[in-house]
Amino acid sequence: MFPSCDLCRAEILPGRDIRYEVSIRVRAHCDPGPPPGPGTEFAEPASPEEIQGALDLIGSLDVGEILERLQRTLRVSLCAACHGAYLQAPHSGSRARPAARLD
Ligand SMILES: [Zn+2]
Repeated sequence: MFPSCDLCRAEILPGRDIRYEVSIRVRAHCDPGPPPGPGTEFAEPASPEEIQGALDLIGSLDVGEILERLQRTLRVSLCAACHGAYLQAPHSGSRARPAARLD
C-alpha cells in the first residue's frame, strides 16, 4: 500500500511522486493579563487545604494526558497538487479535512 495525500487521497508513489509533509505544532500559552491598577482588591491567599487539594489533583492526573493538552504536533502528507493549493490558502476550509497524525 502506497502513502496517500491526506487531502485528496491520491496515491503518492515512492520513486515517482514527491510527498510534502506539513507539520503543525499547537502549544498552550497562558499570557499574563494587564498589571493590577491602583485600588485593585486581591484575592485571599489559598488556605493550606486548598493548596493540598490542588496538589492532590495534579498528582492524580496522567502525565501523558497533561502533555497532550499542552502541546501536539499534527503531521499531514500532501501530493504536489494539494501542496500548491495548501500554500496558497493554508487555513482554507474548502478542502476535505486531512487525516492528521498526532505525535
Ligand atoms: Zn492531494
